[in-house]
This record gives sequence, structure tokens and C-alpha cells, in this order.
Amino acid sequence: MKNENLNPFAIAQAQLDEAAAVLQLDPDMHAFLREPMREFHFSIPVRMDDGRTQTFRGFRVQYNDARGPAKGGIRFHPDETIDTVRALAAWMTWKTAVADVPLGGGKGGVICNPRELSQAELERLSRGYMRAIARYVGITQDVPAPDVYTNPQIMAWMLDEYEQITGHHEPGVITGKPLTLGGSAGRSPATAMGGIFTIREAAKIRGLDLNGATCAIQGYGNVGSYAHQLAHDILGMRIVAVSDEFGGIYNEHGLDPEVISEHMRRTGKVIDCPETEPISNKDLLEMKVDVLIPAAIENQITGENAARIQAGIIAELANGPTTPDADKILAEKGVYIIPDFLCNAGGVSVSYFEMVQNSYQYYWDESLVHQRLDQKMTTAFYAVHEMAQAKQVDNRVAAYLVAVNRVAEAVRLRGWV
Ligand code: NAD
Repeated sequence: MKNENLNPFAIAQAQLDEAAAVLQLDPDMHAFLREPMREFHFSIPVRMDDGRTQTFRGFRVQYNDARGPAKGGIRFHPDETIDTVRALAAWMTWKTAVADVPLGGGKGGVICNPRELSQAELERLSRGYMRAIARYVGITQDVPAPDVYTNPQIMAWMLDEYEQITGHHEPGVITGKPLTLGGSAGRSPATAMGGIFTIREAAKIRGLDLNGATCAIQGYGNVGSYAHQLAHDILGMRIVAVSDEFGGIYNEHGLDPEVISEHMRRTGKVIDCPETEPISNKDLLEMKVDVLIPAAIENQITGENAARIQAGIIAELANGPTTPDADKILAEKGVYIIPDFLCNAGGVSVSYFEMVQNSYQYYWDESLVHQRLDQKMTTAFYAVHEMAQAKQVDNRVAAYLVAVNRVAEAVRLRGWV
């Protein structure tokens, strides 16, 4: 298991290859689906507060739009690469297909460290990003959203820049907006909420009583912090460890989400929260818990540590947290994986609901959003589960089989391949 290729796009392609082999996918279709349809690379010059101009590199990848306009978040990250954006755009394609929303897959990114930027610099960078992609996005072309280190305020700046350029209101051009500007009720917790519904169903299949069951969560941003709150409030789980990029905390009696949120508001980190012990990100992943939730970044469970994973269920709220080598080891151990583009499809599902509400200019309340999200996630979960049973494959391959069938059908009907 040495020298595992951790390039996320190579991993996304290898996953597709495995599914294509099971499906006996037409080689021409397979070749078409292995590559992004379009990508944009650009420079964003930003006037910094000290008067200098700093140039940032930005990307937008429209991986496949056979089923509808491309859809996918924008990530601001110091380690961003075009291959990460390509992989995330590919996973968005499979995600919108498995969730059965009428959208394609895309993704964007900027190489930057938002923690080193002032609010004014962040606003100029966000507006600069939108200026660079404005002519390629829109409700019928490509609709961005937040991802790692981007948030509703950044979506608001980008929306405004787009509307200044085009001269008309078009709230559906971007999702994950603040409520005042046409955001959907329930969008912020949507990714975690969708994951909670899939954990609920997986527990039924595994015969696991979730009430009091233990859980560890890696990543405490939008997705991880809501996952903590909702696993605690809705499923009655005992969340014994959580972490962020600075380290983790542990309490075997369970961590109170309210106490951690309050500590986060004061310090910006989970570490040193009262009544907790420190734990490293590495040890958190290897804890003996019923459910492990990776909710941070890619390549956290690899061929190197997979044999030491003790969780019974892994609910992948992050994109790409598990590598193909790890998948093989986890399958042998009988770990039940809820694969990323199924588990975290709640975000894009409610983004789609946001687009629908923007088109109608008529807004739903949070309970209706959650009810429809539950329906979508439960349907997607069983589509994958039944495929896994029928083809005797693991859940990740099954999710690919469902998604690739749907995308390939749209490509074929359009006569592209
Ligand atoms: P975020 O920026 O709000 O939070 C990211 C969290 O991960 C932070 O707590 C950060 O400290 C932590 N982190 C970063 N690097 C880490 C490391 N090396 N080790 C441990 N923790 C680390 O981002 P988010 O929106 O919560 O996204 C988290 C994951 O969920 C990403 O993989 C993202 O692609 C995926 N996702 C997000 C959405 C969404 O709606 N926001 C939807 C689907 C998937």
C-alpha cells in the first residue's frame, strides 16, 4: 500500500474506471466521462489594503452539463490545485445525478488563504472571481455555491457583482446566499441534515440503535458543526470527539454542541474547550466509535491508516475523504461506508430548492425544506443500497453505477456520444 497516488482527480478517475468496468460502459462514453467538458483558468488581480496588487489564480470547471446547468461550490484554499477542482467537479456531476436533481457538475477555486486577508480584501477577491467567470455562469449555464472557506457573505458579494455586470436581478445565479438576498431556509444546515438522514437509514440496515451511539467528527466548519448539533439533537448520539485544522478535543461522556459553539465564537478553534481532553486528528480518525464523520478535506483515510479505523459506519460528509486503497481495506473489515457524493448531497439538493424558489420568487419554510430534503436523501440512499445488493458491490461503486447510468443516458439522448 506504499506510494498511493493521492491526486484527487486521479482518484476520481480511478473510481469511475471501476464503475465503468462493472457497467461494461461503452469505451467512447467512458472516455468522454473521464474528462471535464470545459475549464477556465484565470488571474484575479486584487488591490490589497497596503496599496500593492496581489495576483491570485482562480479556476472554474464545468465537468458535465448533460443533465442541466453545471452546479458546484467555490473553494478558497491555500493548497487549491486544478486537479482538486476537477475532482470536486466530477463528484458534483455524480452527486447531482445520484440526488436526481436536474443539474450537472461544476466546481471553482482560488489559491489563497482567506485567514490572511482582511474583509475588504476578501470582498475584492470575491468580486474579482465573479468578474472573471460572469460570462460563463448563469441560471441556465452554471450556478456556484459555497464550499471550504467560502460562506453566505462571499456569495452575496459575488451575486451583487454579477447583477452589477448584467444589469438585472438573477438571484438563482448563485446559491448558499443570505436569506435576505434570496437564500433558502435550511440551506446552512442542509449538507449535515442530509447526512443525518443517510446515517438514520444506514443504522436501520446495520441494526444499530443510534440513541446513545458514539460518534467522532473531523472538521468543525459549516458541515462538521451542524453535523454535531443534528446528530446530538435529532439522532440522540453521543459525540465523543471533534476536531478542526488546529487539533481535536475528546470527552467520553459526550461533547455539548452549544458549549463548543460558544467556545468557537470566542477563540475560533475547538481546542482548549472546557472539560475536554486534547486529541490529534490522527487519533480521532482511529477511535472506537459507532459512526465516524469525516467533514474536513480529502485524503484523510488512506492505505496508511485504514487498517486502524475502528468505526462501524463512516458517513462521508467531506468530499473525497477516503482513498481507493483505504476503500479496499475498509471493505475487508466490513465497515459500512455512506459514500461522499451520496452522504453530502443534502447541500446541493437544498441549493436546487433555492434555485427553484428564486425562479418562482416564492419561498418555503424550513420544515418544508427539511421534509423535501428527507424525501430526496432517503430515495437516493435506497437507490444506492438496492444497486449494491443487486450487483454485489460496495456502496461507493453502487453510487457510481446509479450516477453514471443517469449521466450516460442524458449524454446518449443528446447524441453527444
Ligand atoms: P468549512 O470551511 O466551513 O470548514 C472546514 C473545516 O475543516 C474547518 O473546521 C477546518 O478547520 C477543518 N479542516 C481543514 N483542514 C483540516 C485538516 N487538515 N484536518 C482537520 N480539519 C481540517 O467547510 P465546509 O463547508 O464545512 O466543508 C467541509 C467538507 O464538506 C469539504 O470536503 C466540502 O467539500 C464538503 N462539502 C461541503 C458542502 C457545503 O454545503 N458546505 C456540501 C458538500 C460537501
